[in-house]
This record gives sequence, structure tokens and C-alpha cells, in this order.
Amino acid sequence: MTRHIVALLVLSAPLAAAQETDAARLARARAILERAPLIDTHNDLPSMLIERNGGDLAGLDLGVVHPELCADVPRLREGGVGAQYWSVFTDSANMKTNRSLHEALREFDVVRRLVRSRPEFELARSADDIERIRRSGRIASLIGVEGGHMIEGSLAVLRIFHELGARYLTLTHWDTIEWADAATDRNEHEGLTEFGESVVRELNRLGMFVDLSHVSAETMHDALRVSRAPVIFSHSGARAVDPHPRNVPDDVLQLLPKNGGVVHVNFIKEFVSPADPEWQRRRKAALEELHAGLDDEKAVAAGIADWEKANPHPGGTIAEVADHIDHIRKVAGIDHVGIGADFYDAGTTSMVPGLNDVTRYPYLFAELLRRGYTDDDLLKIAGRNHLRAMRQMEKVAER
Ligand SMILES: [Zn+2]
Repeated sequence: MTRHIVALLVLSAPLAAAQETDAARLARARAILERAPLIDTHNDLPSMLIERNGGDLAGLDLGVVHPELCADVPRLREGGVGAQYWSVFTDSANMKTNRSLHEALREFDVVRRLVRSRPEFELARSADDIERIRRSGRIASLIGVEGGHMIEGSLAVLRIFHELGARYLTLTHWDTIEWADAATDRNEHEGLTEFGESVVRELNRLGMFVDLSHVSAETMHDALRVSRAPVIFSHSGARAVDPHPRNVPDDVLQLLPKNGGVVHVNFIKEFVSPADPEWQRRRKAALEELHAGLDDEKAVAAGIADWEKANPHPGGTIAEVADHIDHIRKVAGIDHVGIGADFYDAGTTSMVPGLNDVTRYPYLFAELLRRGYTDDDLLKIAGRNHLRAMRQMEKVAER
């Protein structure tokens, strides 16, 4: 090729990108996800199945579309999902009645039965498993435990969770626990206690990710100091984009290149929309006003429902989810971004419009292509970053 033609091609490349249609970008995104695999690190189908009928799977065929659920095989396939972490979750209120472990075991039981219920699923316990299962045309299924309260203060329980297939532990959920502070509750320990640090070390030893979604910034810093393996944020955003306390601050993002960890970006409108904090502030004021004027809790609930109808949540957009990814790339680098949507209901009210169910991942990747991300960038975000971090984590466990 003459130098002349090369120069022409180089000059016309940005023009071609600008002219690429939405449909063409979407087709390209789908083709890239075919190669990826796309690994999503958080989906709450197990809890939905327990709420639905106690987790009875008889008569439930996940091989057909269930719009009322947050996942099924045909829609995962349409969305390009190659590996899914199913969440073992029970509310931290169960701490009060010492039922967290009991409820966690119900969740493990449902995950394992749901995986066995379809030939398209197979339980994956390692990065190699994910790639092998993906190559065989099936969806690798992994388990993440969302909340350190479920180990009930016992490293033995943690080891049994690992045996059952768990590959990450989110140190807290919404509430502070006896050994770690949550982002959305009182700051009781200024991060991790000594026992909290021993949980991190045991996770390293076992080969489970330390998951820092939901924890306070101090807990993030403590865990990053103690952990010898890469950490993950299984479903978080960037605090600089939406200052929700549950999102990751810049001084933590800056530590990720050294640690090797990955922030998996979620699609929940509350944690995505930059307009959320202002809306929350106005809602809180409306609620206080209602409480001042009304004694009856029912009347207050009806009043705030009316207020929400008149003042809908700002919702967020696909572009704003991409803004979180842009920011994490800018501060931590392209090797430290992944996807963890956190689908937990039918999706219409909870999730960013346009990313409301598991078929929609390609639309986000098309938006990233529009912003000039390369194929290689997309492959990393989709799953290669997670696989790389997982292999590093597995190596630490071997030692
Ligand atoms: Zn969560």
C-alpha cells in the first residue's frame, strides 16, 4: 500500500466512526460480545425466586422468556451474557434474629437448583471454568454472597460457602455489621475491625474475591491495604459522577492499578443519575413535612407515593452509565472497569431506562463505541478484566 493511501485511510477513520449509524454500532457491539465473554457480576434472580414462591422451581422453565423475572436463558443469550454471578442475598435485618446463615443456605440451595434446572447453565468455580463453559456454548454460572452478616462471625462458614461455590463475599450490605462499616449506615469501626481484616485474609487464602460494593470508604481503604489479591466492586459506580455514598470515590479508584481490582458498573438509576442526590434531598424534606402533619404511618406512605408520582425520579440514561465508565477509565484505567448491572426485579422502575433488562447490554457497548472505545477496550470491560483479576486472585490462593 502506498504511503498516500495509508494517510488517506488514517484521515478518514474518525469520519467513518462519526458516520457509523446506531444500527451498525449495535451490530458491532453484539459481534464483540460474541467474542468477549460478557461477565455480569450481580443478578438477584435467586432472591426473586424465593420471594415468588419460596424457591419452588417445579413448573418454572427458565428456557423460555419470563418478563416478570430479572433473568432467563433466552434473554441472557440475547444480551450476550457469557457468565453470570447469581447473588446469594438476605437482608441484614436478619442479623437481629440470627437467621442470616439459615436464609443464606436457602439462597445457595435455590442457586444450585436453578443452575441444574437448565442444560444451558453450568456452575463455574474458576476463570478456566468460565472460559471452558463459554466455549461449549453454555452460560457459566457463578455465586456471589452479598453481605458479610451471612457468615455470622465464623470463618468456618466462609470456608463452607467457598465449598458451595461462592467466589466473592461483599463485606457488608446496607447495614454496618460487627466487623465492617457499610456506606449507608453508621461509621462504627472506622473501616474493618481486626476480625474484618482476618476475613479479608481468609478470602485471599480461599480464592474468593473481596467485594467492596456497599462498604464505606474507610472499609474500602482497609480492605485494599490488607488484601494481597485484586478486589472487586460487584455492582458500583463512580462517586464523582453520582455522589451517592455507595459509589467509589476517586482516592479509592486511584489504588486499583496497583491492586489489580475491577469496578463493575451497575445500572440502578439511583446509583447512576447525577440528579439523584438532589431528588433524594427533596424527597426527604417532603417526608419530614408529612411526618410533621400526620400521625398515621399509612397516610404518610400514601402521601409520599403521591409525591413520587408528582416528582418522578430523574431516572438516568445509557449515556450516564457510560459517563461512570469514562470516569473510572480516566482515574483507574481501562483495565479496571467491568459490568455488574444488579438486575433485581422486572426492571421497569428500578433500572436506567434503556438498560432495564438483561437483553440490553449491547446498547451500552454501542454507546461506548460511539465514544471512540476500541474493540479491545470493549472486550476488557465485558469480561477480560474480570478474568485477569480472577486469575491473579487464584494465584494468590495457590500460594
Ligand atoms: Zn447490592
